[in-house]
Amino acid sequence: MKTNNLFTVLLLLFSFTASTAQTTDAIVEKMVTEANDNSQLEVLAHELMDVVGPRLVGTPQMKKASDWAIATYKKWGIDARMEEYGKWRGWERGITHVDLIAPRVVSLSGMQLAWSPSTGKKGITANLITIPEVADSIAFQKWLPNVKGKIVLVSMNQPTGRPDYNWEEFATPESFEKMKKDRDALEDSWRDRMRKTGFTSRTINQELEKAGALGIIQSRWSNGFGANKIFSANTKKIPVVDLSLEDYGLIYRMTENGDQPKLKVVAESKELGTVPTFNTLAEIKGTEFPEEYVILSAHFDSWDGATGATDNGTGTITMMEAARLLKKFYPNPKRTILIGLWGSEEQGLNGSRAFVEDHPEIIANVQAVFNQDNGTGRVVKISGQGFLHAYDYIGKWLEAAPKDITKQIETTFPGVPSTGGSDYASFVAAGVPAFSLSSLSWSYWNYTWHTNLDTYDKIVFDDVRNNAILTAIMAYKASEDPEKTSREKSVLPINPRSGEQRTWPEPRSPERDGGKIE
Ligand SMILES: [Zn+2]
Repeated sequence: MKTNNLFTVLLLLFSFTASTAQTTDAIVEKMVTEANDNSQLEVLAHELMDVVGPRLVGTPQMKKASDWAIATYKKWGIDARMEEYGKWRGWERGITHVDLIAPRVVSLSGMQLAWSPSTGKKGITANLITIPEVADSIAFQKWLPNVKGKIVLVSMNQPTGRPDYNWEEFATPESFEKMKKDRDALEDSWRDRMRKTGFTSRTINQELEKAGALGIIQSRWSNGFGANKIFSANTKKIPVVDLSLEDYGLIYRMTENGDQPKLKVVAESKELGTVPTFNTLAEIKGTEFPEEYVILSAHFDSWDGATGATDNGTGTITMMEAARLLKKFYPNPKRTILIGLWGSEEQGLNGSRAFVEDHPEIIANVQAVFNQDNGTGRVVKISGQGFLHAYDYIGKWLEAAPKDITKQIETTFPGVPSTGGSDYASFVAAGVPAFSLSSLSWSYWNYTWHTNLDTYDKIVFDDVRNNAILTAIMAYKASEDPEKTSREKSVLPINPRSGEQRTWPEPRSPERDGGKIE
């Protein structure tokens, strides 16, 4: 019966290890079950994206978002607070309504850019003019008085409203090639046209304003059906409005063909003086090493062409849901878990840079930072950000997560430190082990990043759930780790472009008094 005895011993040994694994991972199991059976992601997404809306720095909605997050954390028993670090130009978006009123009536699809000056309720009504082909900047100055009393169309008219993937599917190869060649030529000649004015697409607006234009219309197509990028206006008095590719093409062709189109633009907004800008912080206090921190990180602000659902609503609700799971099943962490929802990332990582600058005592004691900010997709990449031993601890923490979550993650160690892109870069620059939980794209760059289409319906909840579980487990394991993480930096590789050895990025100061009209 020897073999049988041996078998029993092995079995016992096996079940013993299995049950120890079981006890250490009971927390993981509970978090996974809760995340799947009682997800709060849909509720959070609705409240934040649909009800609060976009979260442009300096708007009342950004403040409302912070109030909402703090109230939500409190409901879960998590302490939270708003932390001011500076001020910003206060502004609030109002109604945008753009109508073609001659030669026929059409209500057009468009919206004013962020910080656009208001037209008032009555709006402006005017004929249109396009940027002409001129010989040089002197000729352009001569032409400029023509814009007086007109609305100026400042963008190139796109030759096709179909994205390339649609051409690829249906066009003959010859006609697809021809379209691309024609479009390249058109883009070259447009660049040339702009260059000859002596201005850039950014500086020309103020010149047109000075010359007496009544308004500016652009169309910044994002190479996808219905998608435009909506950034900011840079005028002092006249509105800047973005129109859909379809409607811009319509009025552009009418203007070029002498059809005398007339447009009515109502773009209401409110200037609100100077307002505070802030981060929203939440904390689950550590019990053994309360002065050491594990930071969950996502920027809270957004552009306001839509509701910032994937930039960065999904990162935000990932961190909030992870915080909820941690509080519920791991309420007494070894190290303090801090959830940072940063302000004004979109204007240059301002919130996280301020946090790093204002809290040297925390920065010196951060175990790890986990940031998510590149769309709704499940996490597929993690880089060691140049930290020599990141492999050891990231590898160990990842092992605690279910295989169906980790099997799709490609890791790079030691990797190179990021110089920007999102808030983890603010921490990396300060030598803090900070990592981007980098997600699958889901057509992020064309369809949702800073577009008019970044809305609730683009959220892929199963993927976000996956990320909330991953984040909660990584944070739990980082908090429990018997060892403090190493900050040793690797020798950085040669930059293939410059031929010089890369150097570690330097911390940068935030903009603490931003958005002023120059
Ligand atoms: Zn973002």
